[in-house]
Amino acid sequence: MSGALHTLSVAEQLHGLAGRRFSALELTEAMLARARAHADLGAFLALDEQRAREQARAADAARAAGTAGPLAGVPIAHKDIFVTDYARTGLPSTAGSKMLADYRSPFDATVVARLAAAGTVTLGKLNCDEFAMGSANENSAFGPVLNPWDRTRVPGGSSGGSAAAVAARLVAAATGTDTGGSIRQPAAFCGITGIKPTYGVCSRYGMIAFASSLDQAGPMARTAEDCALLLAAMAGFDERDATSAERAPDDYVAALARPREGAPAGRPLQGLRIGLPKEFFPAALAEDVGRAVRTALAELERLGATLVDVSLPRTELSIPVYYIIAPAEASSNLSRFDGVRFGHRAAQHGDLLDLYKKSRAEGFGPEVKRRIMIGTYVLSHGYYDAYYLQAQKLRRMIADDFAACFRDCDLIAGPVAPTVAWRLGEQAGDPLRAYLADIFTLPASLAGLPGMSVPAGLGAGGLPVGLQLIGRHFDEGTLLHAAHALQRATDFHRLEPPGSPAGQEPKP
Ligand code: GLN
Repeated sequence: MSGALHTLSVAEQLHGLAGRRFSALELTEAMLARARAHADLGAFLALDEQRAREQARAADAARAAGTAGPLAGVPIAHKDIFVTDYARTGLPSTAGSKMLADYRSPFDATVVARLAAAGTVTLGKLNCDEFAMGSANENSAFGPVLNPWDRTRVPGGSSGGSAAAVAARLVAAATGTDTGGSIRQPAAFCGITGIKPTYGVCSRYGMIAFASSLDQAGPMARTAEDCALLLAAMAGFDERDATSAERAPDDYVAALARPREGAPAGRPLQGLRIGLPKEFFPAALAEDVGRAVRTALAELERLGATLVDVSLPRTELSIPVYYIIAPAEASSNLSRFDGVRFGHRAAQHGDLLDLYKKSRAEGFGPEVKRRIMIGTYVLSHGYYDAYYLQAQKLRRMIADDFAACFRDCDLIAGPVAPTVAWRLGEQAGDPLRAYLADIFTLPASLAGLPGMSVPAGLGAGGLPVGLQLIGRHFDEGTLLHAAHALQRATDFHRLEPPGSPAGQEPKP
């Protein structure tokens, strides 16, 4: 088991570790070598090799002592929107922003702490759009991330570092966050699997806030099985997050193979009704994306699922609604970065107001400033009723549309994004184009529903296409089950970026 440790999935890593075929330290060394060799992707913002080795040794010791957690020795990395205890990890917490370039968190985010308690080894922090605002990872203050499938293309965003790192086999799994698509869209652009759970399933404590009524953490990996393994450790009630869902834990791993009542062998999805909203298949949908998605849907049908036509009539409205509500919440959340309470402080300044102004002008990038201005505007007297309140009402109607669909089906399916990954720089200076490309991910976010991106083969230029699956509230189990059935029957998730063939070890 020497040549290709970096090609193993989380499930395969756990199997090998349990069978003592390799140690957590050997696995960690292999992944660190891989991360060093592919530093040009820009996926990692920080690596702490020494502490990663210490954690790996601790995992090996725990395994020897019989006290290992469920993910003991699995190397992962965190989107740099999660704070990580600096004293424990040696890692900064930047949110991809100059504002927090030197920020050293005194504590771990709940998701980080839970994954650490499960035994994972934290290699480092992953690049992302500044404060998770973006769809291409080009808004990071620390430079873009390259798509491992084609280094002239974006990896998607805002969890672009996470998606690129998993696709390039620098880690088998990573954390991401999704406010309006930031797990699903980069997963689609990089050909990996990602799940945004129902709002409230994973604690937001220690996730640097963008839009609090939408932000949700989730795992990104190559398979649904690996997503289930990670989500099992990440999810669960947290009294430090006021919107954390207080419910009994779900068994996501058991859900993968949960037999459907009366389903015959070979048709594991028999009885599952999958709704196809006609608004998710518009005439303007890129032909290659439509074809790949329909091919994956045909596989689900072959596995027993029934495809039914449904409608989400307010799909288009999700764009203006989201781009009012998310900036409104962002403008409020980001007020704490004033150079006094948190964040970069301008070296040259006059009075207190001048200190605030200069610190914020220097610390925030252009997209973040744009959102703060939009958000402040829609919340201001006279515009609140016209914009913010209207958006809130429409948000409720969008959620009601989903509820109506779920009377006819168990899952909703469609594309994750209207096109494959675009070129680096292609949308620079045209933020509206990037906003419009969020059309298929925003509706589930606004409704708080769980959504998943599953590889569906390749489109134009040999670039990955993602199939989106959306479930009922708290029905992550059905999403994971359907995705796992698809991945057992097909090889879409096994496709690899060209130039990083399985088994090819980088020279350390
Ligand atoms: N692309 C969306 C935005 O820019 C979603 C980002 C996210 O989910 N964090 O806001």
